[in-house]
Order: sequence, then C-alpha cells, then structure tokens
Amino acid sequence: MSAPASEGRRAELAEALARTRERIAATGTHPTLVVVTKFFPAADAAALVDLGVTDIGENRDQEAAAKVTELEECEHRPERVHFIGQLQSNKAASVARYADVVQSVDRVKIVTALEKGARAADRRLDVLLQIDLEADSHGRGGVQPADLPALAERVAGSDVLDLRGVMAVAPLGEDPEAAFARLADLHERLLRDHPDASWRSAGMSGDLETALAHGATHVRVGSAILGARPLAR
Ligand SMILES: *Cc1c(COP(=O)(O)O)cnc(C)c1O
Repeated sequence: MSAPASEGRRAELAEALARTRERIAATGTHPTLVVVTKFFPAADAAALVDLGVTDIGENRDQEAAAKVTELEECEHRPERVHFIGQLQSNKAASVARYADVVQSVDRVKIVTALEKGARAADRRLDVLLQIDLEADSHGRGGVQPADLPALAERVAGSDVLDLRGVMAVAPLGEDPEAAFARLADLHERLLRDHPDASWRSAGMSGDLETALAHGATHVRVGSAILGARPLAR
C-alpha cells in the first residue's frame, strides 16, 4: 500500500470515530455504522479497520476498485464493502467483483447488469433498493415509490442477488424528519411482502439521529469521521 496513515491522522480518526459512536449510542439504537471513505486514501480506510470498523462505503467505481485492492493487499479488507453511488450498467460488472452490498439499486437494468457481473465473478451480492424521496424528482437516483414493489419482486426472484432492504438520502432543502418518516412507511409496506428485507439504510453525518429515530438499521457516515472531503462540493 501507499504510505500508511501517520500517527496524527490515526489519532484524529480514532477521536472522530469515537465521537460518532457516542452520537449513535446516545440514541439507544444499535445500527451498523458504514464509514464512507470516498475521496480518502486506502491508508485511512486501513486505519479505520484497525479501529474496528467493519463496513465501509464508496460511491465511485474506479476509486472503490483500486481502494479495495489496496486494502486486500495489506490484509485490511473490511468485512463488508458497500457501494452507495449512482450506478451505471456498464460499471455493474466491476462493482460486482468487489462490493458485498450494493445500496443504490434503482432500476431493472442495473439489476440485470449486477446479476451478470455476480455470475461472472461467482459471487452473491446483498442488494438495497434506493428510494427517491424527492417530491418532484430530478435526481440523485432512486426508484419512485410507485415502482418499488415491482423492482423488489425482480430482485427477490434473482438467484444471485439477495434483497436486504432499502436505502435513501434525505432530499436537500426538506426536513429530514418528514423524509425519513416517509421512508419508514414505504419500508414497512415492502416488509409485508419481503419480511427478510429488513435493512433500512438512512442517515449521514448531519442527520443520523433523525434517521435512527425513524428506524434506520444502517447509517452512512463520511465527513463526521474523515473530515471535509477534499474534492466534493
Ligand atoms: C457521501 C455519502 C454519504 C456520507 O455523507 P456525509 O455527509 O459525509 O456523512 C452517505 N450516503 C451517500 C449516498 C453518500 O454519497
């Protein structure tokens, strides 16, 4: 691997991780913490694995593929790698090679492409359906609520994909409280037909408490642990 994280960086990550874990503990819930390492080097991810992080999230295929390879080479692969970014079908085969969970599945075309990739790589993938919570969407991705049941049926019928639940991002400019309440409602309805699809991935650095109050089982936290992203926004 490129240079390991410095002692200073390790201390910084340890402190920020502890603060995030305290925020989660204060809610009295026990979600899976997915640490979003996008834009940060494999060395940071390796340091987080040393600190007990089991799940990391990435949103760009090229970056994620290279990072996971580096982590494997230095024997710091986390237990689960989550792909959380918008997916194009031409990237699905690559994602299927290293991701354990794909959280951003939002259309049949992606399902088909991931199935192909998973078969070629001789792997199974956990799938979350990303729901678009935006009222009039021009989107950051996600299936429209009306199309959710059909997409869920499609994934549930797959021989290489396992339907695990749903994922959403609170729309910008809307009270996350209302958005996560909507997500909870949509998920409850989905659970009637797919009782095993129990994961609800919601909540990021800024709104994780709100998401946990609405039943999130997985939170995806980036900047609160790694710091402001160097290139994003
Ligand atoms: C980047 C990202 C996150 C993490 O966001 P922070 O605000 O840095 O915690 C969570 N979910 C998705 C889908 C992301 O792209």
